[in-house]
Amino acid sequence: MKPKVIVPAGKQEEVFMTLNDVAEVRFIPLTDRERLFEELRDAVALVADTAPIDEELLERAPKLRIVARFGVGYDNVDVEACTRRGIYVTYTPNVLSDAVADLTIGLMLCLSRNIIRADRYVRSRWAVEGGFNFPLGLDLEGKVLGIIGLGRIGYAVASRAKAFSMEIIYYDIVRKGEAEEKLGVRYVEHEDLLRSSDFVTIHVSLNEKTRGMIGERELKLMKPTAYLINTSRGPVIDEEALVKALKEGWIAGAALDVFVEEPLPLDNPLTKMENVILTPHIGSATKETRRRMALVDIENIRAVLEGRVPPNLIPEQRGKTFMR
Ligand code: NAD
Repeated sequence: MKPKVIVPAGKQEEVFMTLNDVAEVRFIPLTDRERLFEELRDAVALVADTAPIDEELLERAPKLRIVARFGVGYDNVDVEACTRRGIYVTYTPNVLSDAVADLTIGLMLCLSRNIIRADRYVRSRWAVEGGFNFPLGLDLEGKVLGIIGLGRIGYAVASRAKAFSMEIIYYDIVRKGEAEEKLGVRYVEHEDLLRSSDFVTIHVSLNEKTRGMIGERELKLMKPTAYLINTSRGPVIDEEALVKALKEGWIAGAALDVFVEEPLPLDNPLTKMENVILTPHIGSATKETRRRMALVDIENIRAVLEGRVPPNLIPEQRGKTFMR
């Protein structure tokens, strides 16, 4: 009997199928917990999307040896519980940074040039009203871009923003000397970044310190003309405070790819607001990037099936070997 590998239904199925030479690959929607629990009884590897990988789930998976996250944020995985059980946790860093950075720049351009609103204007009002009755946009040149979290994705955003001749500042818990030197980005304290940026873009991982790091106080520090972009994780922003900020004009607008609750409920007030752009968590969603992410997961799963330590362990597990 081949070892069983569970993959979220619809995720790069043709790529994951290539594991069939050494494994029995099963495609299951991970939101269907009862079915997943049933399948997990004899599974050796689980490819994880953003659905919770928690203690209750791990208890049903006595043979599991690897949780291969299809992505780079693993805040949905109970890492401590996996480590205690000798289960490797891997992720797919680097291969998706360019795709998320591209989306971030795309959102910044949509905000600065009103591209989404312009599309709606052409479809419904331009010919009816005649003339040109559309708000002017803003140049990016010379504007201050504040990056919160200058990691892999933050760095890729900074290198793109340079091409727009923006002034780039960043805040991170770790000083990034190499990026400062190579890209000419300047380190500032968190509050200074919020006060002086025309665009604030968030690229931190979600952890206990970053949860809610942009709340009412932080939004009030921002310029009323500034825009906020979030392609990291929804809970980094206090969403209720953001709704208030957008309604009351503390900031000019926002673009969000991630939300506290996903899919974003249709009755969420954000869906009714004109000064916000919403995308459905598509940061890494390009054909090339998703394929690369699947190949990284496959490499990690193959390593475990062959008795080796997987190459892309999350930082908390680096240097660990689980013998089973
Ligand atoms: P990374 O680990 O390379 O970068 C994160 C950076 O945040 C690091 O430099 C770290 O020092 C910094 N940081 C951590 N805690 C901080 C704090 N309290 N204050 C300030 N800085 C802090 O990760 P990455 O590969 O750049 O990815 C960043 C995040 O982007 C992921 O964790 C994930 O949640 C999100 N992401 C979203 C999508 C999407 O589809 N929208 C896709 C991929 C990744």
